Amino acid sequence: MRKNGLKWLCCLMACLMLLPLAPRAHAQGAKLIALTFDDGPSRYTDKLLDALAGSGAHATFFVSGYRLSEFRPELERMAKEGHQLANHTQNHKNLTKLSAAALKSEVQQTLDQLREIAGDTVYALRPVGGAYNDRVCEAAGGPLFNWSVDTLDWKYRNTKSVYDRIMTARDGDIVLMHDLYKTTVDAACQAIPKLIEQGYELVTVNELFRRKGVTPENGTLYTSARSYETLPEAVSEAYPAVRRLDASAVDAEADAAGVYSATVSAGSLPVTVSTPYAGVTLTPGEDFAGSVTVRVRREADEVCVEIWKNGEKLEKAPCGVIVGLPGGSLGAGSVAMQVREDGTRTPVMRSAAVSASAMRVRVDGSARLTLAQDAAAPFRDTDGAWIADAAAFVSARGLLGGVSADMFGPYSGMTRGMLATVLWRMAGSPEPLTAAAFADVKASQYYAKAIAWACGQGIASGLGEDRFAPESPLTREQAVQLLYRTLGKPVRSEKTLPCADWAREAYAWGYETGVLTEESAAWQRPEGAISRAEAAVLLHRAVTESVWA
Ligand code: ZN
Repeated sequence: MRKNGLKWLCCLMACLMLLPLAPRAHAQGAKLIALTFDDGPSRYTDKLLDALAGSGAHATFFVSGYRLSEFRPELERMAKEGHQLANHTQNHKNLTKLSAAALKSEVQQTLDQLREIAGDTVYALRPVGGAYNDRVCEAAGGPLFNWSVDTLDWKYRNTKSVYDRIMTARDGDIVLMHDLYKTTVDAACQAIPKLIEQGYELVTVNELFRRKGVTPENGTLYTSARSYETLPEAVSEAYPAVRRLDASAVDAEADAAGVYSATVSAGSLPVTVSTPYAGVTLTPGEDFAGSVTVRVRREADEVCVEIWKNGEKLEKAPCGVIVGLPGGSLGAGSVAMQVREDGTRTPVMRSAAVSASAMRVRVDGSARLTLAQDAAAPFRDTDGAWIADAAAFVSARGLLGGVSADMFGPYSGMTRGMLATVLWRMAGSPEPLTAAAFADVKASQYYAKAIAWACGQGIASGLGEDRFAPESPLTREQAVQLLYRTLGKPVRSEKTLPCADWAREAYAWGYETGVLTEESAAWQRPEGAISRAEAAVLLHRAVTESVWA
């Protein structure tokens, strides 16, 4: 069965290294990658199994139920040789669009066959096209695994291209492939010994998470096991975090349980509530009257910031909330992690180390936060270079990853679709309200949702005549414009600006805030194509700027 056009979810992970679900941080010695193969088995699977066996490697096969009677010997061989068998449903339908009964049947039919062939155990599910919702998670019958590196092998039937994308995988990644294609199997056969030579162990998805100290839970979706090292704890004396906001500070009072709290009125904002664990700066918000109470406490390595109004804890506060967290040896690769109720931690995009001992974090309201450090080694082609900090910053947040495991590719270009996707992920990958109506933006493309969202938000717009030109090189003034509309605020500027009229407001913001610098001649050539290095610098500075005010 052909792939069904749901590939909008299969973002260009190789470029973006997105991290929707990072597990608890664990410092680990071994470097682990999980290769996964969907939609098979096929007549090429045996060759792949030979290559895996020859290298002592293991993989996970998310098989299509309708193929299992034809390829039963391949299935039995996978089970015998220690690979993980997993469920990719019976007929490869988008599960989010099925009735409850049809959804259950799609999952169950394949499950029954797997149990019959390989025994009664828990089988993980990969939803078709990566598309899932609460109903899909409930019906899964096991944990759900998507991926963090998309080889786009179904699209580019080219061994070299698939090989290159496999080789971008890093410790903790789950790599998506399909053993339906000869090009994919050939690429995997080349990549397997190469990855092992680079010190990776190729393991099943279950093994990957087990070795990272995570027990995947039934009904929960995971996309990667990339690890973060938890940074050393630090407690400051009444940490102020008051800078450039003209915020006055109040010292919170501690109760017997060690919870610090202070109540502030809307009229006094901006104000920083100062505690030993964090400085919480509240900035004026829209339609906000009355007062809020800030409560801060510490639990192990987590700082819990709570915003209370009228006896209710708010996930989304009516005012802006900026948290200053004290840390140790912070750098550009450091990131604040938000801890969710189930204990999983995700990087906060709008967090930036403002010194070696302070991280500023912009959150929506109440949040559990901790500090972490991207555990991956620096990129070889940026180490020590002017771009090193920016590359570490965007990579740690999953905004822009490397072009390979240890190379950032600073001089490669960016497309309009790529930056739209970066900004969409920065916003938490929200569901767009309407689809993008551009003739050149196919719903199956990784950037389709991002472009629809960006246009709906007024961040991006087409180039007229229903074109968006998603694959066109992104120019510098377009990049500045998109970032300004995502993170910036209007500023007054008397400067002579080198850009086109439509980009003046964005360029003015860029120069006034220091996101663009006079020293860099590049910004004087606004129509030039932006490089990944320049985009990283722009993102680094704009995100850092955005956590201030
Ligand atoms: Zn599939």
